[in-house]
Amino acid sequence: LLHNALVELRGNIRVHCRVRPVLPFDAGFGQSGSVSGSTLSEEVVHAVNDVKDTQEDVFEEVKPLLTSLLDGYNVCIMAYGQTGSGKTHTMIGSQNEDPMGPGGAPLQGVIPKAATELFRLISEKPADSHTVEVSVVEVYNNEVFDLLSKDGEGSGAKRDVITTSTGTSEVTSLTYEPVRSSAEVMQVISAVLRLRARSPTLVHRDSSRSHLIVTLTVTSRSPNVLALARRLQSARQELHRPAQKEWWSPRCRRAASGRRGAEEQPASPASSPLHSPCHSPCPSPRPSISQAPVRTKLQLVDLAGSECVGMSGVTGAALWETSCINRSLSALSDVLGALAEQRPHVPYRNSKLTHLLQDSIGGDAKLLVMLCISPTQRFVAESLQSLGFGTRAR
Ligand code: ADP
Ligand code: MG
Repeated sequence: LLHNALVELRGNIRVHCRVRPVLPFDAGFGQSGSVSGSTLSEEVVHAVNDVKDTQEDVFEEVKPLLTSLLDGYNVCIMAYGQTGSGKTHTMIGSQNEDPMGPGGAPLQGVIPKAATELFRLISEKPADSHTVEVSVVEVYNNEVFDLLSKDGEGSGAKRDVITTSTGTSEVTSLTYEPVRSSAEVMQVISAVLRLRARSPTLVHRDSSRSHLIVTLTVTSRSPNVLALARRLQSARQELHRPAQKEWWSPRCRRAASGRRGAEEQPASPASSPLHSPCHSPCPSPRPSISQAPVRTKLQLVDLAGSECVGMSGVTGAALWETSCINRSLSALSDVLGALAEQRPHVPYRNSKLTHLLQDSIGGDAKLLVMLCISPTQRFVAESLQSLGFGTRAR
């Protein structure tokens, strides 16, 4: 029923929910699926993946976002939920077999499938019109680590997040690995996962307590993308009126939604780059972008576990870590809440996590939040917390 009610991908933020099946390790924890897809209504989330849904079923809903990416939009797909709810399974794949390996296709999660779809779409475009780079960072205790860096002694080099002069967010000195196929993306990520599993410093950085962010940056020289970029840009420019410092202010947002149709019409030549600092006062005219390549980002995020401190009985240093997780997840919730309420100020800079995801959350970027839910009664409180997070975002 819920699947039939699936709404077309229209808004910029969508919240989906995936309930994982009952697994052997759930024995004794109230197995009778306390939360099933059919108990969730459309009021709460946009779409529900029930226990029977495969990785393919989940990816079907993600697929249109790859087209948006090549159309010039930034995209973010993130998995939220308590530890053990299926976030890594959803984003990367099953851990029993190498999900990034060629034999793991049916088990592959969103990241390998998205890489495959991205290169499939690129293969249909003119040769050499697109280049792709991958970067992988981990956010742990509100610190950012470049996991592809060669100088981090196996634990990733510590980095900063900055806002560039054009208003985009950027990780300083980040390693961008050029990739020409999905297989190359998978090789890079597999190496990171192996390193994470082996390196003592990274094992101590428990994966349930850190956020893993894989970014695919696409540079496009395709005339179609440049044309769309110009249309988007000129539509945005019209929204910059002297009184409106922040383009997502309620007035701007209404104007933006009202202008969707206008974007389809031929636009006057734009005078600033695609990803301009829409969130700061509009500066004087910028150089033409007509020849400049367009860079768009696909940010794929396996978030830290969202469990409550009290439930897992942690103390001392571990408590400090958990409260840090909660702080960055609550900063994320605050950002999504501010966007949903169309508040004039969106607090991206309250955490490194939200600062580095800034370009792909809000504005005309497209965000998909996958709420991962455990089916057992034992975790009802955590499941409700996750649904609460989703409700705030939409
Ligand atoms: P998390 O990353 O949220 O801590 P995992 O993705 O590691 O959770 O999932 C916990 C366990 O449950 C893993 O063994 C994983 O393979 C399994 N699992 C999760 N979701 C599913 C699913 N939809 N189908 C089958 N097994 C799953
Ligand atoms: Mg995990």
